[in-house]
Amino acid sequence: MKIIFNNGNPYKTVVTLLLLLILILILYSFYNFFNFNNHKDEVNNKIKPQDFHKNRITVIVTTPILYLLARTIAENSTIIDVQPLLTAQDIHEHTLTLKDYSLIENADLVLFEDEELEGYIKDIKKATNNHSKFIELSTFFPINDTIRKSEFNEIEDPHRWMSPKNVKLYLKALKDVFSNHVSLESNLYEINYNRAIKKIDALHNDLQSSNINCSNKLIITSHKFLTHYCQSYKCSAESLLDIHSHESEMTPLRYKKLLELIKSQKINKILVDRSDQSSIVDNFIKENSLIKAELETFHSWDSVINLCNYSHSNQPISWLDCYVNTMYLNAKTISEAMGC
Ligand SMILES: [Zn+2]
Repeated sequence: MKIIFNNGNPYKTVVTLLLLLILILILYSFYNFFNFNNHKDEVNNKIKPQDFHKNRITVIVTTPILYLLARTIAENSTIIDVQPLLTAQDIHEHTLTLKDYSLIENADLVLFEDEELEGYIKDIKKATNNHSKFIELSTFFPINDTIRKSEFNEIEDPHRWMSPKNVKLYLKALKDVFSNHVSLESNLYEINYNRAIKKIDALHNDLQSSNINCSNKLIITSHKFLTHYCQSYKCSAESLLDIHSHESEMTPLRYKKLLELIKSQKINKILVDRSDQSSIVDNFIKENSLIKAELETFHSWDSVINLCNYSHSNQPISWLDCYVNTMYLNAKTISEAMGC
């Protein structure tokens, strides 16, 4: 202190302070120069600006199937962190908790199926300026594939993932989205994608040959989740309920038509989603002396967790095998229900 204030001489004090300031500025420039050079190396490695500030990109997914497929593409990633939303509920329920809100708010990307079905996304988008982080997977599908009204005039079936052909489109969309956001790892996503496509192609070929004798047979399901499966494997599906149209009551006309179909096609099994809890379906099955067969349609987090034998925090052997193995079991249940 004595040196800086120089025994009370104001001129010498000012000169000393100026010299100190110049020294600090020189040191600061050196620091910036070396830091800039480090960043330049990273830019050469194609890291996007956001990656300087965050090591991890948080990706929120709204459904169990998106979780499985996103983890498939991001397997072994050191940057992408996939996290599930609404884990306490079946995917037909959309009551966001405070934790869900903050997960969406803090996420770098939010992957969801369909804005019409998942209305809460619309509300959250309205309340935020960053619309670009919301990615609607249904927009990656051809329109004709998604809109198909049945004779009961229901809305389209959103369970696209029940057809392995559509799973290939999901995987492609996820690979492209991740590569656009984290170009540093695009090679990894490409490798994971190619490996996954091979498995899905093998599954599709197997299902096609095992369904060869089932052509155009009718299946009755609890709610409408087999339209896409049947488009791929030439069956035809009708449902008792249509949860996704918000009209889940069974009208007398519908009841009568379904009974006629069941009698004329000699149907004795109704395929029910494992997580479906409907007294209307149960009563219909009982009243008409039918048999209930359970399918896994990737609706609830619980059933997917049990099925894949993993917890959200643990890395399983293969996320895709969980889907593939389940679809083999489903195909067996479906052909048994059709009697072929
Ligand atoms: Zn459903």
